[in-house]
This record gives sequence, structure tokens and C-alpha cells, in this order.
Amino acid sequence: MVQAMAEGKLSGAGKYGNQCQSLMAARYGFQKTLLTTSCSDALEMCAMLARLKEGDEVIMPSYTFVSTANAFVREGAKIVFADSLPGHPNIDPDAIESLINPKTRAVVVVHYGGVEPPMERISALCRTHGLLLIEDAAQSIHSRDKNGDWLGKKGDLAVVSFHDSKNLGCGEGGMLIINNPNYNHLAEILWEKGTNRYDFSKGKTDKYEWLEVGSSFLLADLNAAYLLAQLENAEEITRRRREAWDYYAAHLQRKEEYPIFNQQAVTDGDNHNAHIFFILLENKACRDILIQKFKEKQIIAVSHYLALHQSPYYTTHHGYKPLPNAEKFEDCLLRLPMYNDITRDEQDRVIEVLLA
Ligand SMILES: *Cc1c(COP(=O)(O)O)cnc(C)c1O
Repeated sequence: MVQAMAEGKLSGAGKYGNQCQSLMAARYGFQKTLLTTSCSDALEMCAMLARLKEGDEVIMPSYTFVSTANAFVREGAKIVFADSLPGHPNIDPDAIESLINPKTRAVVVVHYGGVEPPMERISALCRTHGLLLIEDAAQSIHSRDKNGDWLGKKGDLAVVSFHDSKNLGCGEGGMLIINNPNYNHLAEILWEKGTNRYDFSKGKTDKYEWLEVGSSFLLADLNAAYLLAQLENAEEITRRRREAWDYYAAHLQRKEEYPIFNQQAVTDGDNHNAHIFFILLENKACRDILIQKFKEKQIIAVSHYLALHQSPYYTTHHGYKPLPNAEKFEDCLLRLPMYNDITRDEQDRVIEVLLA
């Protein structure tokens, strides 16, 4: 960041942003990446790239962050919520299949805690029905699937978040990953305010013009400089998080009353990025009592998403239909403290409360 400031160019599409993008293309094998001001913005780019029409339907999980839904509602799509798997917050492919109809245009999956839903099934469904597949991989940087390949490469498009709350961050930031090269050119235009400035900066045209309805999605190069250092240390950061994650798992698996519900991650082997460590309690009352017990010990353990199908915005417009698994995760899921520099002592204090 000091270097960037000395060089004096702090706006987007600059030297450090380009370095971040090249590093990620080289390391993860992403076909094309564009850094954005946030993952929410990258999701909005996905919705714009999908060229949705009024009445088009987009299937997504209810148990997700509000940005996943906002992006598509803004483009006039009808969002259709699918339930979670019974044993994991990720979207259930059977639920997706039951919701596909002639109006369906796209499916958005979320990799909760850096763990994929069953992507082979979901990709096959999208292929069969000609649907765009978008991965909300906000939490999944430096996470691998069960075959050891990096997450974020199976959808036509994918998005990552570099918000402070994620494993790697730069305050506020995000990234669009384009796996289907058909979207490269339009994405470059939307990213640069709807102009062909991207081509202009590469010397491919001598002026740039307004071509599409775009916006300013570029990450400032000052943030990119911060992000670059994080990316360079991604392996070490992820290794430390995994050690912390495995430490919780080793100490809590024995206690039957608090089943570790990261089963999918556990059975997927050693590949996930340890973004979240969650446990699942019997019911909401048990979960909330435990939160209180933690609070008394000055430990912050928190629930997670309020399922979007029950939100005031959605029910006002579309009414309420139950999604029992999403509601269970809303009520019963508890995240244990997990951050890059959590210490063994801190973890022991958490474990002590749980096993008391
Ligand atoms: C964090 C997150 C987002 C939003 O990321 P921002 O960079 O804060 O916009 C979107 N979806 C999911 C699943 C997230 O976890």
C-alpha cells in the first residue's frame, strides 16, 4: 500500500489489481477474473450478464446472505428459494430439480463455509435444462472440492468476497470469476461503466464509448495492494485456519450432545478452507442458552442467516411457504469463534464452555 501511494495511482484497473488477477488466474486456473468493490457488486454483474427479462426465474438457497438475492431482484427477476440439504446448509439438488420450469433461467448456489453442494448433480441439471449456473463462492477462496480442485470453476460465473469477515480480505472487495468465455467481453464493458475502456486501456481502440448500461465496479488499487499481500499468504492463512478448525473438530467430536454438523466438510476430506466452524443444537432455545453461556464468559459465538424466505421483504411480496431445513439452520446453527489468528488458548476457553 505504501508503494501504491508512492506511485500515486490508486484508482481501479491498476498495477496491483492486475497482479491480483494474474496471480489468481495462475494459481487457481480461473479463465478470467475482474476485481470488484464487493462480492455484492460481482453478484450484480452476474445478474446483469444473465440478461434477465421480467418474469424470468432464478433458483437460489433461502439460507444465504441477502446480497445473493438482491442482485437478481434488482434486474427484475423472480427469485425462487430452494431448501437446504437436511444435513448441511447448502442447497439441495432435489429441491432445485422440483422448482425448474420453463421460466427458470439461472441457478445460484452458495458454498456455505467454503464447502460445495453436490455440484455434479447441479451442473447436470443446468446443462439438461439450459440454465445459467452461478456460484456464490463468497466464502470459498482457497477452498478445494473433494477431488482437490479449487472451488469457483464449475459455474458459468462465480463470485468471491474480500470483505473483512472472509478468510482473505481488503476491507471491502470482491471478484467476478468468468469460466464461460462467452461472458468475457460484456463483463469488461459492464465493469467499466458500460464503455469499452477496457479495450482502450489495452490499446485496442483509440477512444472509448458508451455501449451498454454498466456501472463502476472496479476495486481501488489501494485496496488491491492490500489484497495482494493477503493472496500471497493465502496458503499460510488457510493452513492456520485449518489447524484451528481441526482442533475444534478433534475436541468436540467426542461430545455426543453437540454433534459436529460439518459432516459434509469432514467427509469431503482435507480440502475446505475452514471459513466457518458450526455446530447444530437441538432447537433454538438450546442454541440461545448456549450463546448466553458464551456471553457470560466474554466469548462471542453467533447464529447465522435468517432464512430469506421468511424475511419481511420476501413475505410481503410473495407470501410464506415453509422450507424446513433452512428454518432448522436458522434456529439451531451456532458458529464458534473462528478467525485467522485465533489462539489455542482462546479455543480451549470455547471448548471448556461447550463441554461444561
Ligand atoms: C459475504 C457474502 C456476500 C457478500 O459479500 P460482500 O463482499 O460483503 O458484498 C455474499 N454472499 C455470501 C454467501 C457471503 O458470505
